[in-house]
Amino acid sequence: MATTVHIVGAGLAGLSAAVRLAEAGRQVAVYDAAKIAGGRCRSYLDTALGITIDNGNHLLLSGNWAALDFLARIGSPVGLSGPDAANFPFADLATGRRWTLRLNNGRLPWWILDARRRVPGSRAWNYFAPIRILRAPSSTTVGEAMVCAGPLYERLWRPVLLAALNTEPSEAAAGLAAQILRETLVAGGHACRPLIAMAGLSATFVEPALRFLVSKGASFHFGWRLRAIGLAEDRPKELDFGNVRIAIGPQDAVVLAVPAWVAPDLIPGLQAPASSRAIVNAHFRVEPPPDVPPVLGIIHGLTEWHFAYPNRFSVTISNADRLLDEPRRALARAIWREVSILTGLPYDLPPWQIVKERRATFAATPIEASKRPTARTRFRDLVLAGDWTATGLPATIEGAVRSGYAAASALSGASAAKQLQAEAAKQGFGLAHGQHPLRSPRSTVRSP
Ligand SMILES: Cc1cc2nc3c(=O)[nH]c(=O)nc-3n(C[C@H](O)[C@H](O)[C@H](O)COP(=O)(O)OP(=O)(O)OC[C@H]3O[C@@H](n4cnc5c(N)ncnc54)[C@H](O)[C@@H]3O)c2cc1C
Repeated sequence: MATTVHIVGAGLAGLSAAVRLAEAGRQVAVYDAAKIAGGRCRSYLDTALGITIDNGNHLLLSGNWAALDFLARIGSPVGLSGPDAANFPFADLATGRRWTLRLNNGRLPWWILDARRRVPGSRAWNYFAPIRILRAPSSTTVGEAMVCAGPLYERLWRPVLLAALNTEPSEAAAGLAAQILRETLVAGGHACRPLIAMAGLSATFVEPALRFLVSKGASFHFGWRLRAIGLAEDRPKELDFGNVRIAIGPQDAVVLAVPAWVAPDLIPGLQAPASSRAIVNAHFRVEPPPDVPPVLGIIHGLTEWHFAYPNRFSVTISNADRLLDEPRRALARAIWREVSILTGLPYDLPPWQIVKERRATFAATPIEASKRPTARTRFRDLVLAGDWTATGLPATIEGAVRSGYAAASALSGASAAKQLQAEAAKQGFGLAHGQHPLRSPRSTVRSP
């Protein structure tokens, strides 16, 4: 008898579970409440700007081995863009100073000994301040583990941790910060190269995944919102989409890959992170000057990261709940002012769009982190995926993909953690160079 895995949620967690299960020969059916796939990682045609934009700028790093593995599996034709080395240009709006952080590739961080590679005004020994984070108990905040003040904190640790955690680092979980540090700075510059989906999030991650799944015979149901899961004693027996009910056969299974704020309504007694943090993105339809770096970190500004795409300039502000009620035009003006100062583009506001994602990520605090469930539930044949499940990482593309892989392994009876570890090791912690769909800035390397 044909058996089906029903995957509810077509964000990257659901799609990555679907890809792994389809590869393993399972029949896959994907459902999503939205009209399109991608969830919080998607592109769309913005009518105000007349161009396709991403819902938010997404920065990945070369150590994000699962995200890169996913792109290779789906044969993403466009891949990610980034420099050949872990170089991060920064600009300080308070002082006008600019510098580029230049990490060396290996694990031994000799770059901190070179004043031209490190943050201006810092000393080599300053870089050991976060060591206590690596050993801190899970209930500790970053603020309890290290001093969250001082020039190096403001110019390096805060922007890096804020971007990764989308939570003010002083109140964020030290355990999540530690995992970020282990997989990036501690792993060495080879794991820290910044990567962007220059061709757009959907063209890079989502559309190739859908094509791959179609080629494997998967079926898709968009605009289908799961209302309830009919549960027998120890397993799901029915998915209730309102007008349609899908029976879950004895050999079938369900991957629930919906966000943290939806899953507890569908599985009684499920604990999940309940509070979230916003991200605000501003998009401007301008052609960035050629000397503007693709990614620029901003210190002492309203804006935090500037992204220069061929046809637009986009800006990210994390942990942005304070801005949710700000009038959009005033916000666009304030953001553009900073862009104009740093790029030399005219002060007049070009065509703009503000995207406020209220529930961009779960709040990466110790209390919320402690509520993250594993892929397995107390029900047989019902597993979870999502950036909010217990991946050990904050809510990121990397976490979402690992959660999808973990859900697929859980259904195959394997230990998800062991399988992920083995896969990370197989990737040489990330990158078999040339085997992944990476490309150099503004040039394309096709994925295998
Ligand atoms: C503005 C912004 C910027 C970000 N920046 C970065 C970054 O720089 N780097 C990075 O790595 N990550 C970043 N992230 C985080 C990243 O986008 C997410 O971690 C990831 O996309 C989450 O994927 P997911 O599949 O777990 O969840 P989602 O993408 O939320 O997918 C869940 C899916 O479930 C569907 N769904 C919900 N309810 C139901 C229902 N009842 N029935 C059926 N379907 C349902 C939704 O429509 C959605 O498609 C950012 C996120 C945002 C919003």
